Amino acid sequence: MTADDAVTAKLAEWEALAEGATAAETVGRRTFVRTPAISRVLARLDPGVEGCWTWPGARTLNGYGKIFELDGDRKTLRYVHRVTYEAFVGPIPEGLEVDHLCRNRACCNPEHLEPVTRSENRRRAWRDAPRPPRPLAAECRKGHPFDEENTLWERRGKRRCRACHRARSAKSREHHRDEGST
Ligand SMILES: [Zn+2]
Ligand SMILES: [Zn+2]
Repeated sequence: MTADDAVTAKLAEWEALAEGATAAETVGRRTFVRTPAISRVLARLDPGVEGCWTWPGARTLNGYGKIFELDGDRKTLRYVHRVTYEAFVGPIPEGLEVDHLCRNRACCNPEHLEPVTRSENRRRAWRDAPRPPRPLAAECRKGHPFDEENTLWERRGKRRCRACHRARSAKSREHHRDEGST
């Protein structure tokens, strides 16, 4: 299946899902135009899009897309990413949470979602959480200042003290000289 075929298949699936949008139903004395959450979600997103499907609608305080759905005559709050996952992939196994592999909580592209245990979800959240940068020491262990002149910057924010580096090189030269003279 080529990428184009995949998009065409997805769009056909989308149209089939959106058709449910007009089914009217009477509950008690009221008639609801029952619009499945997935139809309303897909009316606001383009599933042909590569990358994140960032939900443009309402979000929870934690930043997840949310949508109301009628369950009987009760309104229930649903996460948009769970709605799309169930529509395109299948039911989310009981007790599992849906992890955003892309780390974009408002995203509901089923390809970016993976049902995992709560514990695994927490492990990943901790692993990927942004951490405040560690405050940098003002001097090296020997007490030389880490100022502009004395600091050698290495990869990933690592610093080296030029004075210590010079001292070590001098010592090693001396050592080699001693060895040479014996
Ligand atoms: Zn995403
Ligand atoms: Zn030093």
